[in-house]
Amino acid sequence: MATIEEQLLQQIKRYDTIIIHRHQRPDPDAFGSQLGLKAVLQASFPEKHIYAVGKEVPGLSWMNEDDTFMDDIPDKTYKNALIIMVDTANSPRIDDQRWPNGLETIKIDHHPNDEPYGDWQWIKPGHSATSTMIYEFYETLKDQGLIMTDKAARLLYIGIVGDTGRFMYGMDKETFRVVSELFNYKFNYEAVHHNMETITENAAKLSGYVLQNLNILPSGFAFVVLTKALVKQFDLRESGTAFVVPLPSKIDKVKAWAIFEEQDEGNYRVRLRSRTIVINKIANQFEGGGHPMASGAWAQTGQDVERLIKMVDSALIKQYGTEGTAQEITEKIESREI
Ligand code: AMP
Repeated sequence: MATIEEQLLQQIKRYDTIIIHRHQRPDPDAFGSQLGLKAVLQASFPEKHIYAVGKEVPGLSWMNEDDTFMDDIPDKTYKNALIIMVDTANSPRIDDQRWPNGLETIKIDHHPNDEPYGDWQWIKPGHSATSTMIYEFYETLKDQGLIMTDKAARLLYIGIVGDTGRFMYGMDKETFRVVSELFNYKFNYEAVHHNMETITENAAKLSGYVLQNLNILPSGFAFVVLTKALVKQFDLRESGTAFVVPLPSKIDKVKAWAIFEEQDEGNYRVRLRSRTIVINKIANQFEGGGHPMASGAWAQTGQDVERLIKMVDSALIKQYGTEGTAQEITEKIESREI
């Protein structure tokens, strides 16, 4: 019987038009797996029309060395197309909601399969990155016509570096094996790391603010609330705020942490991380989800922010025992210290 990878390739071979989607607010793995797959398919099937869609994110435009970043395609292109969604666990988070207009749909992802959407699914929960899967897809099927290129290898490498937090999380032998295979191709990995590691001077100042103003509860839960007004003061332009997410993990006593960022609509985007307890089940209760140790969510109000803090705090206390923090946090919220 054909493997799932072989079945996907059979579908790809049947279509002249293939449109690749990924999640909103993309990170390097979302872009890397999307644009890496596009590059592999373009090299393998030059006669096909292969597109990558979704909003551009100026902060990640360095990832694409071509003139055009995302493809701007009309609705009619979807009519006879195969749609592939990468790195996106839940269908509401797919960037460009025209995806159901295609003839058939494929989901390729490394998150827990919370929502099994799509006609075909290839899911490896817990795998280091969707970009790792795209390399494996090529490797398993290279005898059947798939071609890897320098450009694709660079994009997949960026995706893996991004989702492993620079090879710090979710690492295993397989990921290092894939990375070592990617080094058979020609790309400037030092330039990649320079782009990923450097931040603007203003971003460095916000990093200083976050470290200075981090609330660290006795349970080991750390959080900071970034208001719209505060973020505006730092004049970050296109760099966004993603660079602050790993900062609390530098502090030894921090067991889990969250960055709350106020949005134009008055709600808060939550970036939740842990190195101890599983936090994606908590994120699920706040319109979110993700990996067991790295999730995103939404807090609609200040009360939701408080509720989420208490939930993670209680989960840590339950696991590691520390007391009296719920009262402390209520007092802090009431006195507007956070
Ligand atoms: P972020 O905090 O946005 O960097 O996301 C961390 C992880 O959680 C990534 O794997 C995201 O794909 C996932 N994630 C973020 N926000 C959500 C959400 N609202 N629903 C489901 N998964 C999410």
